[in-house]
Formats: sequence, C-alpha cells, structure tokens
Amino acid sequence: MPHFEVQHYIDGQFVDGGPRFDILYPATNHVIGSAPEGGRDEVDRAVTAAQRAFKTWGRLPAAERRRLLKGFADRIRAHEKELVEIETWDVGRTVRENAHGYVPRIAANIEFFADFAVTHGSEAYPMDTGYINYVLRQPVGVAGLITPWNIPMLLATWKIGPALAFGNTVVLKPAEWTPIGAWKLAQLAHEAGLPPGVFNVVHGFGPDSAGAYLTQHPAVNLISFTGETTTGKAIMAAASATLKRLSYELGGKGANIIFDDVDLDRAVAVSLRASFFNQGEFCLAGPRLLVQRGVYEAFLDRFVAATRDLSVGDPFDPTTAIGALISREHLDRVAGYLDVARGTPAEIVAGGDRPDLPAPLDGGNFLNPTVIVGVAPEDRVCQEEIFGPVVTVGVFDDEEEAIAVANGVSYGLASVVQTRDLGRAVRVASAIESGTVWVNDFFVRDLRVPFGGMKQSGVGREGGHYSLEFYTEAKTVCLSNQ
Ligand code: NAD
Repeated sequence: MPHFEVQHYIDGQFVDGGPRFDILYPATNHVIGSAPEGGRDEVDRAVTAAQRAFKTWGRLPAAERRRLLKGFADRIRAHEKELVEIETWDVGRTVRENAHGYVPRIAANIEFFADFAVTHGSEAYPMDTGYINYVLRQPVGVAGLITPWNIPMLLATWKIGPALAFGNTVVLKPAEWTPIGAWKLAQLAHEAGLPPGVFNVVHGFGPDSAGAYLTQHPAVNLISFTGETTTGKAIMAAASATLKRLSYELGGKGANIIFDDVDLDRAVAVSLRASFFNQGEFCLAGPRLLVQRGVYEAFLDRFVAATRDLSVGDPFDPTTAIGALISREHLDRVAGYLDVARGTPAEIVAGGDRPDLPAPLDGGNFLNPTVIVGVAPEDRVCQEEIFGPVVTVGVFDDEEEAIAVANGVSYGLASVVQTRDLGRAVRVASAIESGTVWVNDFFVRDLRVPFGGMKQSGVGREGGHYSLEFYTEAKTVCLSNQ
C-alpha cells in the first residue's frame, strides 16, 4: 500500500504548515498518508504569492500562458496511470470508471481553456458619431477555488484551467477527504514550469480552517465553489464582506424520465450509469427514476436485475463496478436514508445492505446499489440529496405529470429524458428546471456549453465563453475620433 505525505504548494514550494490529518483509503479505512491543515498563515502566504505573481502572469501574452498550460496538460496525460490510481486511493472510485477517459478529460480542462483564451477576441461598436467603443477582457486577480471530494481532479482542473488561461492566479483549497490528487497536480504544474505563485494549493477543512480563511481574505477577488448547497450559503455570507465575485456549482437531485417508447436495453444501460456512476456520489446523477406506466414493470424487472449484477468491492479490480463511499460518516448518512424509507410504505427491491467482503475490504465504506419503489415524490428520500448508490423508481402516466414530479424538488442541476419521440424530447427538455438535460444518454458534455444549476443547485454558469465572462473583467474603452 502506498503512503502519501501531502504538502501545501505555496509560491512554487512544497511546504508543511499546520497540524497534519490522516488520509484514509475509503475501501479499507486504512491510513494511507497525511496532509497538513492550512490556517490563516498558509492561506495568507498563498494569497500574497498569488497577488505578486498576478502582476506578471496577468500581463503575459495569452499564447505564452497557453505554452505553459499545454506543458501542464501534457504532463497530466503522461501520468495517466498514476493519476487513475491516485483518484482511486483518494475517492474509492473504481479504476474501471477512472480508466474511461477521466485523465484525458482532466488534461482537456486545462488545454481547452488555454486555446480558448488565445482564439477568442472581443467586441467593438463604432458609433454614428465616429467614436469607437471596444471591450477589453482582463483577468480579475486572485481566484480562490474550493472543490469537493467526489470527482476531485476533474472539478479542480475545470476551475484551474479557465482561471489561469484568462490570466488570473489561483489558490486551490481541495476537499479534506481527497488531498492527494491536488498535491499531484501541483507537482505536475511545477514540473511544467508554471512561475512561482501562479498556482497554489492550501489543504485544510472548511469552517475555521483554510476554506473559510480563503473566502474571507480581502485580497481574493473571486471564488469558484463546488460543493453542498448549505456550504455555498455560508460562503456567500462570508464573501459578501469583501464583495467577491462568486460562481456556485451546488447539490443536485436529478430526475431520469423514461417514456414507454424507449428501447429497454438502452434505457437500462443509461439508467445504470445515471444512477450508480461514482457510487452515486455524483451531483449530476439521476437518482429519481420516473417510468411511464406502460413500461414500468418491464423496466423495473430489468433494472433491478442489472443492479443486482453490479459487482461491489475492490476498486482496483478492473471487473468491479461499484467502489467505496468516501467515508464511514457518509456511509452512515446514506444508510440513514434507507432507515427513513423503511419507515414508510416504500419497498427496497435491490440492495439496502452491505456486501460481505474479505479483509481488509470488510473495513471499507461499501453499500450495495439500492433500488427503492413505492416512495411518494414528497418524501425525504425523493427530495433530499442522498449522494450514494440509492435510487427511487416511480411511475407516471403522462408528460405533464412527469414534468411536475421532476420539477418538484428544490434542486435543478441535471436531468435525463429517455424517449424516441423527438417532439416529446424537445418539449420535456424545455420544461424541466435544470441546468443540463441529457436526452437518451448521460454525462456527455462539450466544454463550450454552459454548465451550472438552477434553483438551489447553483449560481452562474461556467464553460466556454461563460467561463471567460466569470474569470475576466469586461472593460469598455471609448475611443474619441478627435
Ligand atoms: P462540501 O460543501 O462539504 O465541501 C466542499 C468544499 O468546501 C470542501 O473543500 C470543504 O472543505 C469546503 N468548505 C466546507 N465548508 C466551508 C466553509 N464554511 N467555507 C469555505 N469552504 C468550506 O461538499 P462535499 O461534501 O465535499 O461535496 C459533495 C457536494 O458537492 C454535494 O452536494 C454535490 O452535489 C456537490 N457537487 C456539486 C457539483 C456541481 O457541479 N454542481 C459537482 C460535484 C459535487
């Protein structure tokens, strides 16, 4: 078993600072290393370094930033095997899932925005009076990036890429549960020759720790946050004192609507991914399956059988489909929802228990993928984000009812619609309150499109020119013709 002694990365140096906390491997709960908990001092040093570095990084030609960022992306690709394994040690997700394009996507997050910053121009408006107005897009300054544990390297690079490409400097605060990947990314950025202070990583926790100090720091100009809705509210309150620019990607409780004209095999395959990708610890998941009455029984039979067939266990075994949940606390929280369901007329038709695994996996945070039927849409299990391998399957009669149930939650991040009727797909996709709607598939996205959530799932959008808008200031220059 490897051992990771993670460090902060501040001003181009790997340093300690603050008490160390253990890193546990989710599949065994064995200690696999430790990380330092940054405090005010570490955050302040990182922000000061980023402020200083901004003076040169922000003024570099975008093509020069692109050269350095492409070197970073190349190193990410060259370390694919190691990064796949690190993500498994950090998160407990299977190597099988990590191997499917995960690392190329991390590299693409950096590379895409490095190119985008070079190829995108600006607006100009010649006035009738002869004046010319034009718009300059300039970097904002020091970006505080705060990320969650569920898909850590993908979400970190999704913010690091545009922040740096558009000329900002960065202080990243990764989730305390998954510090290894961010540490490794810092090593690769360092090797790629990013100048000291341009990219910094400070480890630690949220409240009264590195996360909160970053959101309070007066020299941090913007915060891009991905995490729980309640955390987002706390950050908004903290950041208001210094009026920071904010972007939020928050929780979700997506619907997966299956109409009775679907190809059942495909619908089951798409639904398995939308339900159990990343052990269901996935903001974009569709854990509320809504199935039209005509195919309800047939779909449920196949879906339950396929769910029972998913192998749960050693994330490093390439045949394993479902890995471990992030922590014992989280497993208990997820299992608590099964107790809630058991207290209602609902029925657990697959899973609901823990797998019987040999040592040392018997100490890990595993839960069999679970399917619950007979839950009323207003019950807690259908309303709250469970963030684990637990889904509900309900029945509906018509389009109107499906849309009403799908929209009957406080979240609005992502949804799935499965039908072969094009008109229906267009109508339902338009009516659903969520930032992304997939039709007949799941978790495919071009980096140019907006990404974000409605309602309690987020504020703002990132991706393509939406990232350009968030990570830059728009300055108008009015040029006199005199
Ligand atoms: P979390 O909100 O507990 O933590 C996220 C990050 O915020 C961590 O780095 C944490 O240390 C930090 N943090 C916590 N409290 C803070 C505070 N007061 N001030 C500053 N920083 C603070 O979320 P999590 O448990 O790590 O992740 C799971 C959540 O993330 C789920 O709700 C999931 O839906 C959401 N998520 C959303 C998206 C999206 O794109 N919308 C993507 C992935 C995860």
